[in-house]
Amino acid sequence: MSPSIQSKLPYVGTTIFTVMSALATEHGAVNLGQGFPDYPMSEELIGMVTDAMKNGFNQYVPMQGLSILREVLAEKVQNLYGTVVNPGSDITITPGGTYAIYTALTAVLRPGDEVIVFEPAYDSYIPSVEINGARAVQVDLENPEYKINWDLVREKITPKTRMIMLNSPNNPTGAVLSADDIQQLRSVVRDSPILILSDEVYEHLIFDNIPHLSILRYPDLLERSFICFSFGKVYHCTGWKLGYCISSPDLMKEFRKIHQFNCFSCNSPFQVGLSKFLLKKDSYLSLGSFMQEKRDYFQQLMQQTKFTPIPSHGSYFQLYAYHRLSEEADKDFAIRITKEYGVAGIPVSAFYQSGKDQKVIRFCFAKKKETLETAVVRLSRI
Ligand code: PMP
Ligand code: GLN
Repeated sequence: MSPSIQSKLPYVGTTIFTVMSALATEHGAVNLGQGFPDYPMSEELIGMVTDAMKNGFNQYVPMQGLSILREVLAEKVQNLYGTVVNPGSDITITPGGTYAIYTALTAVLRPGDEVIVFEPAYDSYIPSVEINGARAVQVDLENPEYKINWDLVREKITPKTRMIMLNSPNNPTGAVLSADDIQQLRSVVRDSPILILSDEVYEHLIFDNIPHLSILRYPDLLERSFICFSFGKVYHCTGWKLGYCISSPDLMKEFRKIHQFNCFSCNSPFQVGLSKFLLKKDSYLSLGSFMQEKRDYFQQLMQQTKFTPIPSHGSYFQLYAYHRLSEEADKDFAIRITKEYGVAGIPVSAFYQSGKDQKVIRFCFAKKKETLETAVVRLSRI
C-alpha cells in the first residue's frame, strides 16, 4: 500500500519569499523581494566567530544558549528599556526569530484556542498557529497607515482568546506601535489570561527618531509575553539564522520544554562571537539612521516612477501602491515586472490568508546604493 497522508496545512504552498527569489534568479532580476541585505556584514564580527571556532568553541552549549551571550543581552535590555531580565530564566537563544515564534506558540496553544493576528502578517504566523490546532482570528490593519483598530480587537475577543500577536516595526507595512497602542493593549489584556507574542525582530530598524516601544519596557505586559528577536536583522546576516526569545520565568520554562527537544542548542561559535560584538553598542544603536538613509534614498529615487509610496517608519521594507501603472492583481503584477522589467518585489496579498489584494507591492531597501539605482531605472520604464 502506498503511504498517504492528509496534509496538516492543506492550503499552504511554498512561501512567497522563496517563490519570488527563485523567479528573480531565473530572470536575472534585481531582488527587492525577500528581505535580506546585499551588502557585506561586519568583518570584525566574522573575525570574532572565526576566532571562536579556532579557539575550540565547537561543541554543544547549554540548551538555553551560551550564558555569556544571555548575560550581555540582559544588560542590553536593561540599558535600552530599563527592565531587569534574568539571563538564567528569561532568555533563550534560538535558531532565528521565526523558530522562536513557532516555539512560543507551540508551548502554549491548545486545540480550540483563538489567536488575534493582525493582517497583513508575516507569512509564518497563521500556519504556526494552525499547526498547533488553534484558530487565527484576523484583524485587518487599516490602510493607509496600517494602524490597529482596537475597537475591532475588542469585538473579536472571546473566552477562547489565548494570545495577541504583535509585530513592531511591522513587516510588511513599516508601521510602528505608539504609546496609545500600548495603553489600548493594556486595557484589552488586563484582568484576562490573554498572552502576547511580540515579534520585535526589527527593533533597531526604526526611523524619524521614533522610540521603539518594546514590550520589554512594560513589566506588567512582559509577564504575559514572549518577545522574539533575530540577530540576522541586526547584524546583516540573515543566513546565520540565530535569534532569541525573552519571556517571564514561567512561560520560558514551557518554551524550553519544546526547544530542548526540537533544536536543543544553537551553534556555539556564533554565540561566542556575538557575545563579544554586542559590547560594541554603536553597531546596533546606529542601525536606525543607517537604514533610514537607505529608505530616504530609495524613496527619492522612486519619485521617477509612477509608484505611490506608503509611509514606512521602520523595518527594511516600503510599500508602494501601483494603481497608476496597472489594474492587475498584485501577484500577476509582481511576477510580470520581475520577468519583463527585471525587478522583484513581494505582492502584499501574500500577507493575508484571504489573499486580499489592495494592489500594493513591498520592496526591500536594505540594499547597496547601486542595487537600488539599477532597480529604479528599471521600474521607471514601466
Ligand atoms: N518576524 C518577521 C516579521 C520577519 O520579517 C522575520 C524575518 N524573516 C522574522 C520574524 C524572523 O527572522 P529569522 O527567523 O530569519 O531570524
Ligand atoms: N522576513 C523576510 C521577509 O519578509 C524573509 C524571511 C523568509 O524568507 N522567511 O522578506
